[in-house]
Amino acid sequence: MIKRILVTGGAGFLGSHLCDRLVARGQDVICVDNFFTSQKSNIEHLLENHNFELIRHDVTHPLWLEVDEVFNLACPAAPGHYQYNPIKTIKTSVMGAINVLGLAKRTKAKVLHASTSEVYGDPPPEAHPQPESYRGNVNPIGPRACYDEGKRAAETLMFDYHRQNKVNIRVVRIFNTYGPRMHPYDGRVISNFIRQALRGENITLYGDGSQSRSFCYVDDLIDGLLKMMDAPDDFTGPVNLGNPEEFTIRELAECVVSLSGSKSKIVQTRPRPEDDPIQRQPDISLAKRRLGWEPRMSLQNGLRPTIDWFKSIDLAAFRAPTPNY
Ligand code: NAD
Ligand code: UDP
Repeated sequence: MIKRILVTGGAGFLGSHLCDRLVARGQDVICVDNFFTSQKSNIEHLLENHNFELIRHDVTHPLWLEVDEVFNLACPAAPGHYQYNPIKTIKTSVMGAINVLGLAKRTKAKVLHASTSEVYGDPPPEAHPQPESYRGNVNPIGPRACYDEGKRAAETLMFDYHRQNKVNIRVVRIFNTYGPRMHPYDGRVISNFIRQALRGENITLYGDGSQSRSFCYVDDLIDGLLKMMDAPDDFTGPVNLGNPEEFTIRELAECVVSLSGSKSKIVQTRPRPEDDPIQRQPDISLAKRRLGWEPRMSLQNGLRPTIDWFKSIDLAAFRAPTPNY
């Protein structure tokens, strides 16, 4: 059956890859985006498809559409982007969730919500790796709170609409994901390091680089989103989606320098930002068990196409967020 599927944030990094996959499956895809952190170039190759439609819309305002499924991805995701206008970030998470859930309640659409590992905040060693049952260590008044608490409130809304209004929900907690079409100026570690390596500039470690992250390649992540949407209705999640292979930020820097054949030096430029988690690694046993999902791409193999993509783009065509959003 051909389904009508709404992807909010569909022009973004993850959203555009998801739209590609849904269009290729022959589904009828409606992409909604306000282009706060994305470029039309991410989806322009889809515009000629009869089963793809683009709507410029801000999800803090209600949507009036008839759909069967919703992937709710609209929200800036990188610290530099979500801290640019923190009030707008929390409004996007919370009001976006309310608007999407209202639509789902009316149309009886299934909703998959893109939550984040940031709901775990800065976990202590005994909560490492993080299972879904870990309730988090988030500073509610810090510089990351607009995103972390916004995403936590959106999860609450998903489960309240599910219990109170029987909305068919699924919640995924996405861990750091990278790949082609990530915003080259999003300030995140992979985009910074690749840009710096390709220009022969110093690679900027914040702190001594001993903090760790686990990086998932975009294609693996999209597989997880699709599996979760197709999972039985009794499986609401939340479920972690990410690659459990953990690397220190210094190891990542060395890997990017070596794969890009760069002469860049790795230097410590500033202390770790406030509330920057020391370590982060997903426990994906639930995703393995319930979805039969696990990532396949190693960091080295995923960095190669990402570096190639950075080489292929015109950096001048990308802009930072502007005050008008
Ligand atoms: P992205 O910034 O590339 O994409 C987000 C998209 O949402 C952009 O196209 C942006 O223009 C759009 N958007 C933002 N505010 C909006 C609004 N008010 N109305 C309409 N559109 C709006 O980021 P991404 O990496 O593709 O992330 C997608 C989703 O996945 C986000 O919800 C993010 O929180 C979540 N996530 C991503 C990661 C990751 O590592 N990429 C990790 C955890 C969670
Ligand atoms: N980081 C770094 N140099 C950079 C950008 C980031 O050392 O140029 C560090 C940052 O302090 C954090 C890690 O890399 O410890 C991942 O940061 P990112 O912003 O990519 O994502 P998040 O903190 O949300 O996981």
